[in-house]
Amino acid sequence: MSKSYRNDPQRARNSQSRYTFYEFDGDFPDDAACMDWLVSYLYPDGIHCPKCERVTKHHRVKSRTCYECQYCGHQEYPLVGTIFENSSTSLKLWFHAIFLMSQTRCGISAKQLERELGVTYKTAWRMAKKIRSLLQEDDDEPLSGTVEMDETYMGGKRKGTPKGRPGKDSHKTPVFGMAERKGRVVAKAVPNASQAAIFPHVKKKVMPKSMVYTDEYGVYTPLQHMGYEHKRVHHKEDVYVAGDVHTNTIEGFWSLLKRGIGGVYHSVSSKHLQGYLDEYSFRYNHRDDPGGMFSAFLNRVEKADPAS
Ligand SMILES: [Zn+2]
Repeated sequence: MSKSYRNDPQRARNSQSRYTFYEFDGDFPDDAACMDWLVSYLYPDGIHCPKCERVTKHHRVKSRTCYECQYCGHQEYPLVGTIFENSSTSLKLWFHAIFLMSQTRCGISAKQLERELGVTYKTAWRMAKKIRSLLQEDDDEPLSGTVEMDETYMGGKRKGTPKGRPGKDSHKTPVFGMAERKGRVVAKAVPNASQAAIFPHVKKKVMPKSMVYTDEYGVYTPLQHMGYEHKRVHHKEDVYVAGDVHTNTIEGFWSLLKRGIGGVYHSVSSKHLQGYLDEYSFRYNHRDDPGGMFSAFLNRVEKADPAS
């Protein structure tokens, strides 16, 4: 870093960083800047006034989270129906929390958020949960092309042989995953690794005629009768890669997930597991988004329909 940058931190040209804290802080210096961004994002065509029955200019009511129509005084509350509604935490802190959660690859704990933001642990935990709730992508396009499928088990202490599948009395939660080669991943917490639990997800999330690679686990046998091409890799015979046939993509995702949940969240109750799976999948699936991860997170904010 050259001396002239000492008082003005700049990103090195060859740094892998895409959006630094300083850039974030410059883009969103205070609550007003966050609110301005939110209004322009949630109302791209301007705020529609129901009384004037058209889009009119709305002015921010000073020190409130409300905007007023300049003709009739109709009040619009942009935060209503968003994750920021009913929160006494400043919008800047919310955006900072989103920044922190979006910048990590392996996750960030509520404890760490508490330290970084100066909020209570309870607030940090609640914020993380709300932000995580933005990251479900259930309506996305199904996976296609070559798709690897596998199951893994989360939580509890690992006992017995590392390759074995836990018995019925295990406290581990099974997770079923599907990963497109060089593409997206979908991970679902399932009650067990049976066909009844797994196949509805396959039908919903994988296009017919896709080439599916799995290991030799018997649960996958009917795939070829469901309209999929199916090839297996024989892990039991210590074969992990046979030409193109392997499940390294989904296994790579599992190790990312386990490093993250093991190292950061320590243990996750099965009730909250799907939220964490969505968070990790979202980061993985948006790793190459041209706008960067922070903007991928921020663009998930939406205003729920008050009727729903
Ligand atoms: Zn009006």
